[in-house]
Amino acid sequence: MSEAREWMVQWLRDAHAMEEQAETMLSGQINRLDSYPELRERIRVHLDETRQQAKRLRQCLEQLGEDTSAMKDFSGKLTAMGQAFSGFFSSDEVMKGSLASYTFEHMEIASYTILIAAAEAIGENEVARVCLQNLREEEAMAEWLGDHLAPTTKMFLSRDEADSGAAKR
Ligand code: MG
Ligand code: FE
Repeated sequence: MSEAREWMVQWLRDAHAMEEQAETMLSGQINRLDSYPELRERIRVHLDETRQQAKRLRQCLEQLGEDTSAMKDFSGKLTAMGQAFSGFFSSDEVMKGSLASYTFEHMEIASYTILIAAAEAIGENEVARVCLQNLREEEAMAEWLGDHLAPTTKMFLSRDEADSGAAKR
């Protein structure tokens, strides 16, 4: 097996671990966003996409003849980051979550851009196609989150203001 192919396979496995981490992070956020229904709904949609992305990557690896049974071994890599992002219980958790999600989507965008280049370099067109499909979903999510950072911030601040006003009375 060529060196380039080995690297591509490794990066596919890393991407799969990243998607499992994304699934954990997104499902953790959904339960704490009752006050932000629009944001919660977009995250729910992306959670479905994320599960499909992980499945696509597994199928890619299987088609390449790679064993996917030991994939769990790789998912530990991003755990610390995921915990930092999903284990927030501070009162501004919607803001911490927005920051984490926006950052995470951009890591995913970088990962798939790298994978597409690697796949194209060695003529693995199916891998490139699948990674492009995932990339488009990450770009759409990143754009949506980017557009909603300012409105979410303002909503958070006005809710916080209302809450502390109510507490004083
Ligand atoms: Mg993803
Ligand atoms: Fe994503």
